[in-house]
Amino acid sequence: MKLLSKYKVEEYAIDAHKCLRCGFCVTLCPIHAHSKWESESPRGRMLLIRGMLEGELKTNLTIRDRMFECTLCGYCKYRCPAGVRTIDAYKAIRHRLDELNLSPEPVNILEDYLAESGNIFNHPKEARIEWIDYMDFANFIKKVNKPAEIVYFTGCSTVLSGRAMSIAAATASLLNYLGLDWTLLGENEKCCGNPLLLSGKLKHVEALAKHNIETIEKLGASIVVTSCPGCYKVLKSEYPEIVGKFDFEVLHITQLLEQALDDGKLKFKNKIEAKIAYHDPCELGRLMNVFDPPRKIIENIPGAKLVEFIYNRNLAQCCGAGGLMKATFPNIALNQAIVKLTEAHDIEAKILVSACQTCKLNMMDAASERNDEIEIADVTELVAKALGIFEANI
Ligand code: SF4
Ligand code: SF4
Repeated sequence: MKLLSKYKVEEYAIDAHKCLRCGFCVTLCPIHAHSKWESESPRGRMLLIRGMLEGELKTNLTIRDRMFECTLCGYCKYRCPAGVRTIDAYKAIRHRLDELNLSPEPVNILEDYLAESGNIFNHPKEARIEWIDYMDFANFIKKVNKPAEIVYFTGCSTVLSGRAMSIAAATASLLNYLGLDWTLLGENEKCCGNPLLLSGKLKHVEALAKHNIETIEKLGASIVVTSCPGCYKVLKSEYPEIVGKFDFEVLHITQLLEQALDDGKLKFKNKIEAKIAYHDPCELGRLMNVFDPPRKIIENIPGAKLVEFIYNRNLAQCCGAGGLMKATFPNIALNQAIVKLTEAHDIEAKILVSACQTCKLNMMDAASERNDEIEIADVTELVAKALGIFEANI
């Protein structure tokens, strides 16, 4: 597995040395912004890694926590003038910590769940299609694990979290609206493996990847579409390094919708007259360079006015939930999402839209915590509503 070499922390000794201590990476690190501790800044983490590699620091639980108090948002890597591969080094040190049996307990539990049942909640495999009944969508799902041109790879959290299922329903409605020949994998879909790749726990990654690729290939699909940026990143850029080449294209739903828009296939029926802030999910934007499609789609909805966060696109601030933060340090995730809500109000947004179920859930938690009535939606839900084909609670 070619990917394994990226998880050898010794490979990043050169990065730890290259760090100029300039602090460019510190300015917008969402974690350092809250704590102000140098050891919770990207620069500080690189210094800790250097200390560990040079034998000056003994690995302990505090250092372990510093390596997991990071959303792996990629801002620091993008910003670094010296080309320090920060997030790759953090994932590699997480792998080393796992080899030393020092992974945080929530991460160990996640690994057990994925090994046992192939999903992040350890539900029976049948649970992956229960959303269809919960959403009363049986009439809209024509194929489950049947040959089709397109596979909709839902990912775990979209179909197993009650508040995110409407994203699966909206996506299904959009694929139907476009008249596409598509299928779910249903019970045969397993987690893409992203939680394991983020936590450096690699034992089961290859088996999950092989299972998903084989299942997709058996159905003869030429395109896999995801609504989850994490699945998109893993299938598109990490599976080839784990299992080699495969024969289908991987698209995020916003890319498919952009194409439909360009082809004149989106005929909006409903106006959505509101200022809409678009939050770039880290794994879709900065880490995969998909910035324009969601913006273009929102701008074309009648009545909608796209407003930008002060820091957007490559400088966008994480919602706080990335890098497994929601599992390991949920309060940090929540506090950062509260910051995002404040910033959305600063630009007078009435609807806060993302293109990721995890961002949506985390920002909903923040809204609930603050009794904030801002509407929070996924871009699929917004488009489906404007087309008049599906109405989520937005
Ligand atoms: S990846 Fe994001 S959260 Fe982690 S150190 Fe870099 S800027 Fe901070
Ligand atoms: S931006 Fe790069 S060189 Fe500067 S302190 Fe951060 S990691 Fe070091």
